[in-house]
Amino acid sequence: MTKPVAVLPEHYQHEDQLIRKLLADRSRVNKPFPEKLEKRFWQSLSDHAMQMIRNISVLAMLVYIVVGLLNFPSIYFLASKENLFHDSVVCFLLYVNGAVCLSVLPIMARIPSLSVYYQRTIIALSFFGVFFTTLLTMQYHEPLLIQYGSYVIIFVYMLVYFLTGARPFILLITCCIAGILPLPITWSMGVQVDLLNYFYAVIFSNFIGYFISQSIIGKERTNFLQARLLELDKIQAKSLSDRLIRLSNEDVLTGLYNRRYFNEAIHSEWDRAVRSGEHLSLVFIDIDCFKNYNDSYGHLKGDDVLVAVSNVFKEHMRRTSDMATRYGGEEFILLLPNTPMSGAQVVANNIMQAVDALNIEHHASTVRPYVTLSIGVATWAGDPDITETQLIAQADSAMYQAKADGRHLVRVFKPEY
Ligand code: GH3
Ligand code: MG
Ligand code: MG
Repeated sequence: MTKPVAVLPEHYQHEDQLIRKLLADRSRVNKPFPEKLEKRFWQSLSDHAMQMIRNISVLAMLVYIVVGLLNFPSIYFLASKENLFHDSVVCFLLYVNGAVCLSVLPIMARIPSLSVYYQRTIIALSFFGVFFTTLLTMQYHEPLLIQYGSYVIIFVYMLVYFLTGARPFILLITCCIAGILPLPITWSMGVQVDLLNYFYAVIFSNFIGYFISQSIIGKERTNFLQARLLELDKIQAKSLSDRLIRLSNEDVLTGLYNRRYFNEAIHSEWDRAVRSGEHLSLVFIDIDCFKNYNDSYGHLKGDDVLVAVSNVFKEHMRRTSDMATRYGGEEFILLLPNTPMSGAQVVANNIMQAVDALNIEHHASTVRPYVTLSIGVATWAGDPDITETQLIAQADSAMYQAKADGRHLVRVFKPEY
């Protein structure tokens, strides 16, 4: 079965086709998408990462405090007496560095206006996090602590590559620079560096992190496309159902509301008028000598007239609660909530003049040589003995009075009709 894509706005249709093409071509999925989709993809990764940060930030903070509480006493056992003070200070600075970097993220994730800076912030934090962690780790005197510091560096890489949703290549460059810079600084301070340990912790694990996150991103790309397709399907289903609802309420030819919808609307407006004590007016409109028009100019021309006068009605529905309905054939009803008789008469007269001004030729009319209307107005002003059906009948009978009085007239319902 073919998909009813016609109900989707055009830009969604393009996106839908593009995504289907990308998903069908497996070799393209791991490469960057076209610009707009690519931007949306990275935004969605940022959003997910921020959501996750919001969810785990309190727990992460508690874990960080507990790790800190366990970590500091352990230095006492790991470091020799002469290194204890120096290495405790280094450990404390490492801890503060981690706390500063980690506390920026929940703040960002909780302030929506900052979310556009998320990717840039992640890159900056990764730089400072990796730089200071590497630099400080190199400052330990105790070899065992240098070893443990390397694990911290690897842990920082894991956080940066797997949880931040930032672009792996940019992270790789950033982390390489941030990881390499401490080396000459440390050397210039005359501190020896265990190069093998450094290579594994800072360079090798950086590349491992990069390659793993690249493959994760590849899978994320497929997930993203499938999720977006599902979203588009939802948008399509929604717009299809909106359209069906509109069609079921609308008259196909004129685009006015149909009689079925009018019956629902008058019911609820009636209830509202009863509750609030406001007036409710109906304006019943009939085109004069329309049978003659069809007979002389043809049915299609007749349809054009129905559309033209309907457009006039639409233009005169000034309040959102006003409603123009095609009640049947060449008969229309305007529903005017919270409108007294005088207001409804003004609307009726204005509409009659506006249709006259269209000056649609009608030589077969017995009234004027152009298309005219006969209009009846009825208003409910709180009489408890009147029902909505009776109000419609009153407007109808006022319209017939206008016909009886010679057509091309507005008549207001009076009980003697
Ligand atoms: P009156 O001035 O008394 O209202 O006379 P009339 O000819 O307008 O009234 P009548 O009820 O005799 O005729 C209504 C005509 O409206 C008959 C029908 O062909 C025409 N009509 C109803 N629906 C449509 C439509 O959808 N398109 C067209 N072109 N004509 C329609
Ligand atoms: Mg009629
Ligand atoms: Mg008529």
